[in-house]
Amino acid sequence: MAHITVLRLSHRTGRDPRMSTHLGLTSRVYGAKQFLLAGDKDSAVIQSLDDVKVRFGGEMEARHEPSPLGFLRNFIAEGGVAVHLTMYGLPYQEVVPDIPHDKPIVVVVGGAKVSREYYEMCQYNVAIGNQPHSEVAALAGFLERLNDGVSPPDDFKGGKLEIHPTERGKDMRQEE
Ligand code: SAM
Repeated sequence: MAHITVLRLSHRTGRDPRMSTHLGLTSRVYGAKQFLLAGDKDSAVIQSLDDVKVRFGGEMEARHEPSPLGFLRNFIAEGGVAVHLTMYGLPYQEVVPDIPHDKPIVVVVGGAKVSREYYEMCQYNVAIGNQPHSEVAALAGFLERLNDGVSPPDDFKGGKLEIHPTERGKDMRQEE
């Protein structure tokens, strides 16, 4: 599985906490190592994701990124691959097979308005259908195809709770 960072742009404390938290949860389930929140410094979103890690385990680091363009510039200069999700991009079915899995990948998810610099700086501008989409669903669709599924249960060690899959009902156990 590739080393994945998700960079969420332009978070607004008043309007976006639920959407940004769900982007973080989606990143985690698909094995991202880092979730970076740019825009407003909203510690409630980071805290929610850290709480999920304490309860359900895993290793994803969530933090605020004050300089998303600077972060991307360095990431690419150090050999990483930047993929920007946008409805204006090329179809993901065509692009994903070309994305190298042996280099760190940052997936950039926009907010209300994404400036031109991101389109130019990222090596791939990828659309999950060339139609307006939910950013959470677009991220899930992209990562599902990139990784060919969610991370296995063993990737979520160290939590207080463990879910055991069951045909009916809920089987959640407390770890010692
Ligand atoms: N109007 C904004 C712009 O300037 O591009 C986009 C707003 S959209 C609600 C927020 C984010 O959802 C986008 O920046 C993009 O990352 C993601 N998104 C929306 N539709 C998408 C699609 N069809 N494929 C990939 N990503 C999409």
